[in-house]
Amino acid sequence: SSLTAVSVQACFDYALRLYQNRLREVEVIRCWDDEVWVHADLVRLEQVLVNLIGNALQAMTESPVSKLTLGIEVELAQVRISVTDTGPGIPQPHLSRIFEPFFTTKSPGSGLGLGLSISARIIKDLGGSIEATNQPGAGACFTITLPREERPG
Ligand code: ADP
Ligand code: MG
Repeated sequence: SSLTAVSVQACFDYALRLYQNRLREVEVIRCWDDEVWVHADLVRLEQVLVNLIGNALQAMTESPVSKLTLGIEVELAQVRISVTDTGPGIPQPHLSRIFEPFFTTKSPGSGLGLGLSISARIIKDLGGSIEATNQPGAGACFTITLPREERPG
């Protein structure tokens, strides 16, 4: 794989374009200021964000409020990327299992249970980490940490 300076905003934009029809019914909140780059592989980071946003949208299909919050926070040498939804969240006993291959709570045909295991593998290969937490009210939050990269030449 080719690791370069990848714009996190550009990856989010790519994923949001894929889901633009469904997103007409969702409030999208973008929490960032300036453009931020990570040391990553563009196509792979796009794939991870497509997985996380797809899960978030699926989780919110029955929710009275559908709010998708996308975050980018710069730390010293790292960037924290987050995808937060207002769905039902993840039951506590599932939190330790959702990254396992073939773990799914979806009916056959709507989920294979591979998205998060592939995403976790990609992020690990890129030298980062991924974790899932629940929001205090309701909803799930996925946070990715990746090495920060300077603005490309
Ligand atoms: P799939 O989407 O095919 O089920 P994933 O690996 O993407 O497989 O996700 C595994 C499981 O993690 C899901 O079936 C669901 O139970 C849980 N999950 C993932 N994202 C969310 C979310 N945003 N809200 C609630 N549960 C989630
Ligand atoms: Mg999925």
